[in-house]
Amino acid sequence: MNLPLNYQPQANLLEGRVILISGATAGIGRAIAIAAAAHGAQVIAHGRSKRKLAQLNDDIVATGGLQPDLVQLDLKTAQGDQYQSLIEQIESNYGRLDGLLNNASILGDLTPLEHYDIGRWQEVIHVNLNSTFILTRCLLPLLKRSDDAALLFTTSTVGHQGRAYWGAYAVSKFGVEGMFQILSREYEDDMTLRINCINPGATRTDMRRLAYPAEAAGSLKTPQDLAPLYLYLLGPDSHAIRGQLITAPAGPT
Ligand code: NDP
Repeated sequence: MNLPLNYQPQANLLEGRVILISGATAGIGRAIAIAAAAHGAQVIAHGRSKRKLAQLNDDIVATGGLQPDLVQLDLKTAQGDQYQSLIEQIESNYGRLDGLLNNASILGDLTPLEHYDIGRWQEVIHVNLNSTFILTRCLLPLLKRSDDAALLFTTSTVGHQGRAYWGAYAVSKFGVEGMFQILSREYEDDMTLRINCINPGATRTDMRRLAYPAEAAGSLKTPQDLAPLYLYLLGPDSHAIRGQLITAPAGPT
């Protein structure tokens, strides 16, 4: 699959598109929310922290983006009625969804399976895998109302090659990749919905710092470096890219 090198998104690339980003309050999700809004998208920013969502709102507006819709939902505890309100909010405000970036995740513990805390295991699998399924399942009908929708899952290198001590996080990403493969095959004939999965690779965020506390972070790409690739995958220029697992290059995209 050919991804454009040095892709330069047009200023209005995402104009008229309604795009929900989960985990938009930090790291990669936050950078993509700001970049998407700066390129004309109506962003629906999801997070669990009201304070961080308010800060994101201010930053998007300060950079000239459309005021985002803010969705406060803790994926660890969210219940059916909260997901139902989210569906109703999007339905009544926009009637459809043109993009969904399933990005929110937690790292959990890095420890041998033999010692993995069972409650922690359940939490990581719930936030990273079950919630990704629930959000996708709830929002698919709205994505299907778009003429050109992009659904993007997020994986990791440890989601396709088992690595010692990565426990529930790695297993959750194996699950996300499985879900992506199943769903993209179920929709392979649907030319209005493309489903892809991105592995952002080592990126300078809080999660990466937690996983590699002794690493010299200066050598890593930043979440902002990833913006062109994510915007490409969320926007109309990637219309022909479907059912692909995409690994971001090590440096700026
Ligand atoms: P961060 O930890 O920086 O950000 C994760 C986001 O998910 C935050 O917005 C966080 O909210 C949110 N989140 C976590 N738990 C919950 C919850 N219970 N309810 C709602 N929101 C929640 O992670 P990254 O930006 O590094 O990672 C983004 C994606 O990329 C993840 O799927 C990750 O697995 C993947 N990835 C990252 C790599 C990297 O090197 N950074 C490498 C490979 C994959 P809050 O701000 O409140 O914490």
